[in-house]
Amino acid sequence: MPELPEVETVKRAIETAALSHQVAQVWQSGKKMRWPIPADIDAALRGGTITTARRRGKYIVLDIAAGGEASPKLGSPKLSSPKLRSHGHSMIIHLGMSGSVRIYPHDKAPERLTHDHLVITTSHASGGVKLVLNDPRRFGGIQLVPLGEDSAHPLLKGMGVEPLGNAMSGEMMKDAFHGKAAPIKTTLLDQKIIAGIGNIYASEALFLAGVSPKRKARNVSLAKCQDLAAAVRVVLEKAIAAGGTSLRDHVQPGGEIGYFVQQLNVYGRDGEPCPTCQQPIKMIRQTGRASFYCSACQR
Ligand SMILES: [Zn+2]
Repeated sequence: MPELPEVETVKRAIETAALSHQVAQVWQSGKKMRWPIPADIDAALRGGTITTARRRGKYIVLDIAAGGEASPKLGSPKLSSPKLRSHGHSMIIHLGMSGSVRIYPHDKAPERLTHDHLVITTSHASGGVKLVLNDPRRFGGIQLVPLGEDSAHPLLKGMGVEPLGNAMSGEMMKDAFHGKAAPIKTTLLDQKIIAGIGNIYASEALFLAGVSPKRKARNVSLAKCQDLAAAVRVVLEKAIAAGGTSLRDHVQPGGEIGYFVQQLNVYGRDGEPCPTCQQPIKMIRQTGRASFYCSACQR
């Protein structure tokens, strides 16, 4: 499942490849993903300009401002109702379990692959690109909302703080964990508290902070919350940097966005020696998800 660093890497790749490009055509497979792709998506986006690529939690948001003739004149008295003003759309993209994005220079795109569900062809003075969303399991999907209204969408509304944002801190965590009897590992995965920490980086951050995944969230001290907030930032930023090194050639010959998972300390390493104390790393299941930890280093 794509985690925050991969989503951030995909976002940056789209930003690098397609920012300020005009949408020339949108093709869709017609297959239902997590949600149906709007039937009129080509008409809705064609002629628009990709003005921003953003990330919120594990969602990518592309702002596509309405272009040329399709765009109503601003300040026109006939368009006083905000609903009638079509300034464009924000496209919320969720990669789900198996979603991926490929990017090709427009003149080097091969035939469509099985499980390609959305292809956005762009034009730009520097040459257009094709952005391809592929998803074999179709747990991912897209939603179109009026431009800039993504944060009010049910998917994003009520989402917690960004783990790399300024609101993330030990104090914030301590407050959020108040009265929570659930294990800290499970609580870290709660998107309403912190948005975008997935299973891999929850285990890695707890290892770095020396906190047992089994500890009740309410019993994690402020000092440990501060360690944990710092650890979350470190593991995510390292992973993004690992994606970033491969991003220099972000459009691979096959269109894939280069991404290498960083060296992990505990995740997926049960039975292997702890990198700090050499005791075997343990694996437990918490609400169905695997947690990896060192019982000697993490308390
Ligand atoms: Zn250890």
